[in-house]
Amino acid sequence: MSDFVRIPVGRGTPEGVNSAYVVPDSGVVIDPGPPTDSSWSALRDGIERTEISVQGIDHVLVTHWHADHAGLACRLADRANASIHLHEGDAHLVGDYTEARQRRLRRDASILGRWGVPERIREALLDRDAPSPLPDTYPVQAHEEGDRIAGIEVVHTPGHTKGHVSFATAETLFLGDVLLPTYTPNVGEATRASTIRWRRTSRRWSGSRPSQRAEPASQVTGRRWTWTRPSKQCENTTTSERKTRTT
Ligand SMILES: [Zn+2]
Repeated sequence: MSDFVRIPVGRGTPEGVNSAYVVPDSGVVIDPGPPTDSSWSALRDGIERTEISVQGIDHVLVTHWHADHAGLACRLADRANASIHLHEGDAHLVGDYTEARQRRLRRDASILGRWGVPERIREALLDRDAPSPLPDTYPVQAHEEGDRIAGIEVVHTPGHTKGHVSFATAETLFLGDVLLPTYTPNVGEATRASTIRWRRTSRRWSGSRPSQRAEPASQVTGRRWTWTRPSKQCENTTTSERKTRTT
């Protein structure tokens, strides 16, 4: 029997349907989902169908700062009186969301300007990020590799974001977005640094933790999607990234 319950919480990005995971024995929810009312209803109803209720949640674990994963973290933490946990590389991007968002928008505007994107299109692209999906600030606990939260291990798996982590129980690795079935955003030519981080993550997984199943946070068109060998998908992603670089 699984040590977790998967809850489909809606589509936050073109990458597919997001999944939240409840680990009832630990009072934990991993990646609560996008910041919409429909996702909140799906999450709340899904938790209530498990052996614990929303009030039984003590810890909200988030694999990375993107709003389709962290978007409901504060709402759930408020309702459950729970704490929020991210890796130290991403924690400030949720804890000080508004300031981080302003910095990100300025950076993106500058890059788009250098690429010669017309101002009208630049503004439309940047406006897509409004209104802000998270509170201006919120208390977040920052972690590093090897920390444990209610018995669940923090495994630093950067690449998709700098502070991306996976979470490990005895049986399962909860992957977040570090590995997606057809592509993994920010790996490839997005930035050199993100690709180098991804290669380290990929090497680390080759042959490691073979008895654990791996659960990604997103799911494509409603199909259940579980890898028994994440190292194989790492190889596929690395091969396709190399091809992109050489064409
Ligand atoms: Zn993401």
